[in-house]
Amino acid sequence: MTSSPRRRLLVAAAVLPFVPGIALAQTCGRQTAPQTPGPFFKPDSPVKSVLFEKGQKSVLLVVSGAVLSAQCRPVANALLDFWHADEFGEYDNKGFRFRGHQFTDAQGRWRLETILPGEYPGRARHIHAKVQAPGKRILTTQLYFPAALGHHDDGLYRRDLEMRMPKAGEGSFDFVIDA
Ligand code: FE
Repeated sequence: MTSSPRRRLLVAAAVLPFVPGIALAQTCGRQTAPQTPGPFFKPDSPVKSVLFEKGQKSVLLVVSGAVLSAQCRPVANALLDFWHADEFGEYDNKGFRFRGHQFTDAQGRWRLETILPGEYPGRARHIHAKVQAPGKRILTTQLYFPAALGHHDDGLYRRDLEMRMPKAGEGSFDFVIDA
C-alpha cells in the first residue's frame, strides 16, 4: 500500500519545492471527505500527541501522516484535534482521556500515539479528527481501520478514509484540506 502511485506523489510533493505552474493539483486536488463529529466531541482538548498512558494494557497504536493543501503543499502549523473511544468503546465525556490536539511541524507532519479504540454498537472502529490550516475552515472527519481490525458494516465508513496500516499498530493517513 505504501508504494501506491498516490502515496509516492504525496511523498514527492512533500520533499520537492513548490513550483507554480506544475499541475500537481490534479493529483492531490481531492480534499479529505468531511464526516459528522458525532455526539462526543468536546472543545478545549489539551495539547497532547501521546494519548497512551503508562501502565495501560491496551494495544499501542501509532498513527502518523501529513497535512497537505489541495495543491499538494505541506501545511505547517495546522491544528489537528483527535478524539476516540477507549478500549471498551466508551468516550470520556467528563475528562480528556483519548482527546488531544497538536500542530503539524514545518513539513506538515503529525504523529499520534494512542491505543486501539474499541468498537461500539453500530460503528466501525474509528478515530475522530478536526483539521485546520491557520486561518482556514475546519475539516471534521473520521479515520477508519482496515477490515482485519473490525467490521465495516457502518453507513459512515468510507474506503478513502481508511488508514494505511501495513503493520498492525502502525497507521498512516494524509489529510488534504482547504489551506
Ligand atoms: Fe465515535
